[in-house]
Amino acid sequence: MAYDDNNIFARILRGEIPCKKVHEDAHTLAFEDINPQAPVHVLVIPKGKYVSMTDFAEKASDAEMGALNRAVLKVVEAKELKEPGYRILANAGANAHQEVPHLHIHVFGGRALGPMLVKK
Ligand code: AMP
Repeated sequence: MAYDDNNIFARILRGEIPCKKVHEDAHTLAFEDINPQAPVHVLVIPKGKYVSMTDFAEKASDAEMGALNRAVLKVVEAKELKEPGYRILANAGANAHQEVPHLHIHVFGGRALGPMLVKK
């Protein structure tokens, strides 16, 4: 899938839409999810134009990859999630119900999060 420059996170990165910033560095931005699913729900995104984790893993530099992991840690520290724990999740593609076509890692915490997936 080609990257869509008008996706909502591209617009946040350009400053066209506001966000509640949690962390920023040269390669990443982390901000509060607008529709939180847990007491803590932060999105961590690369500044580069990557549709999904697949795209990122195929094309990103080692510096970008390292920065994304470290940015997750920054959020975990800022939100005091190390103990009793947290969950990270990245949806990729239709089966995962990815809504925004710019890679984002969800960081959830602040309560017991239950089983990983709802059983069907
Ligand atoms: P996904 O289904 O993994 O693509 O998740 C997209 C996430 O982006 C959802 O949790 C939305 O609530 C969130 N979201 C959509 N628009 C915004 C926005 N303007 N600011 C912050 N989060 C947003």
